[in-house]
Amino acid sequence: MKKFFRVFGVLICLGLVAALGYNGLKNTARTEKTEFLFDTVCTITVFERNCEKIVTEAFDEAAQIFDEANFFDDESDVSRINNAEAGERVAVSENIIEMLDMAKMVNEKSKGAFDITIAPVSMLWKFDEESPVPPTEDEILAELWKVGRDKLHLDKEQMTVLKEFSETRIDLGGIAKGYAADKAVECLKSRGVESGIVDFGGNIVAFGENPASKNHKWRIGIQKPFSPTGEYASVVEIDGGAVVTSGIYQRFFDYQGRRYHHIIDPENGMPAAQEFESVSVVGEGSALMDCIATAVYVLGKTHGEALAREFGVEVLFCP
Ligand code: AMP
Ligand code: MG
Repeated sequence: MKKFFRVFGVLICLGLVAALGYNGLKNTARTEKTEFLFDTVCTITVFERNCEKIVTEAFDEAAQIFDEANFFDDESDVSRINNAEAGERVAVSENIIEMLDMAKMVNEKSKGAFDITIAPVSMLWKFDEESPVPPTEDEILAELWKVGRDKLHLDKEQMTVLKEFSETRIDLGGIAKGYAADKAVECLKSRGVESGIVDFGGNIVAFGENPASKNHKWRIGIQKPFSPTGEYASVVEIDGGAVVTSGIYQRFFDYQGRRYHHIIDPENGMPAAQEFESVSVVGEGSALMDCIATAVYVLGKTHGEALAREFGVEVLFCP
């Protein structure tokens, strides 16, 4: 991936249409569909005509993953884990097992920075309320003991999950979109699609050859944080693969002159304090890049770059 990775200067473009534009694809034959999933805009574009049925099937796969990972639906696999008692074996889908397994690996590599058991703390931060107030230190401390990936046990063969404490809860917000984007691409490829772009709210996967560029590469725009016009801060050129961004501009609120965002440092239960506003990770597999991007945001530049090096992926901080 490294040798194909190049960062371009500032470009001002708007949305996926623009992304297709600077890929030279504006007039290229394609099938495109947008749906609202994972609380965000998700677009699948394939560079063939009349692929509506295949694109719908790819969205069905993504919607299935959304349902299984939905924290707010009592019937979802995630809720069944969250509502289980200590020691109870909860049978879950293959998708959930794969996500939990990957999350565990990144948790270990990132020394706890990426931790899906952050849920009891992340739920204290009410980003969806009209006038949110940050939780108090005592409120955070009352939840923080429940966080810790080692309190969750997977049985991959039996496809079950077991918690050491009933109070442990998981939140797949840092991995599920990326995982779903990978599964959508798998679905498209298995049905014979040769090239396309899947964009699930900042989790972008390009595959095959760009039909409109001489070198067949893809150019992916990195959104400028907090830009009202959807301006891009930079553009990366890749052969194919995933470009995933974690940014504090995606979910945040301001309270008494301070900004609080949704990427939580499991060490103290507070939004990770960094000098940058987003980080993008470029590599193979958007589920893995999704985990790494969140982890790098928590770790900060020095330790985040070290983690990225360990995985052999590129990182880009913004601004
Ligand atoms: P992302 O946008 O991929 O960086 O994911 C952020 C989302 O992941 C948040 O909205 C939370 O649902 C969840 N999250 C927050 N902090 C963490 C963390 N330290 N580790 C794993 N997931 C997290
Ligand atoms: Mg993530």
